[in-house]
Amino acid sequence: MRKKILVGNWKMNNNLKESTSLVNDILSELPQNGVELVFSPSFVFLHNVVKLCKSYDNVFVAAQDCSEIQNGAYTGDVSAEMIKSCDVNYVILGHSERRNKYAETNYVITQKVNLSLSNNLKVILCCGETLEQREKKVHFNFIKSQISDTLFHLTTDQINNIIIAYEPIWAIGTGLTASKEQAQEMHAFIRKIIAEKFGSIFADNMSILYGGSCKPNNAKELFSQVDIDGGLIGGASLSKQSFIEILNSF
Ligand code: PEP
Repeated sequence: MRKKILVGNWKMNNNLKESTSLVNDILSELPQNGVELVFSPSFVFLHNVVKLCKSYDNVFVAAQDCSEIQNGAYTGDVSAEMIKSCDVNYVILGHSERRNKYAETNYVITQKVNLSLSNNLKVILCCGETLEQREKKVHFNFIKSQISDTLFHLTTDQINNIIIAYEPIWAIGTGLTASKEQAQEMHAFIRKIIAEKFGSIFADNMSILYGGSCKPNNAKELFSQVDIDGGLIGGASLSKQSFIEILNSF
């Protein structure tokens, strides 16, 4: 059976003290509901957060990105190999903020996917359409191209290490959320295209997360949909109370 997963993407928020106390506060109230919890702090705090989570079976850490280059003279970049050396398990790739603010293309994201997998990191691959694309009814084709361009070259062994996060851009940080019907429809579509390419066993095993203004007041209805296996949470992951409430919504 596929895993239920909740990921907190802190983006460029929380200094060392804040990161440490947020993790400790959440860990002190962790429900035993079988949901896998993933913290995604800044690169500079990955090692600290890994140490805090080490003794918890179902708690892991994700980097928010990695370089598309293996190593070398790339000042400021952080490689997949460096991330893995900190005992990190996951990396978030293709977030819309990376695509839009840093002009990351599907080609660049594919290089990152390949390097992450070859360094034994699991990938949380983000995809999502703009409001304009949805209104023009090209959103299904757009999501299909984001997924096929970045994942369809993988082997079935590799696809087992991929989680997809559907994050409609118009819902990220805006307070607008996809309705449970809109989110379920897209998650079912994503599972279908994964099944067509890799087979239904791999598609059924893949966790597909929803992201985009997921909050305590809408998490339950989203997570109760058959193809929604959890969430990638931005703003609401920065407070212990809201993140724990979302965690209790499964
Ligand atoms: C995100 O950036 O991945 C996200 C889902 O943000 P928010 O929850 O703030 O919309």
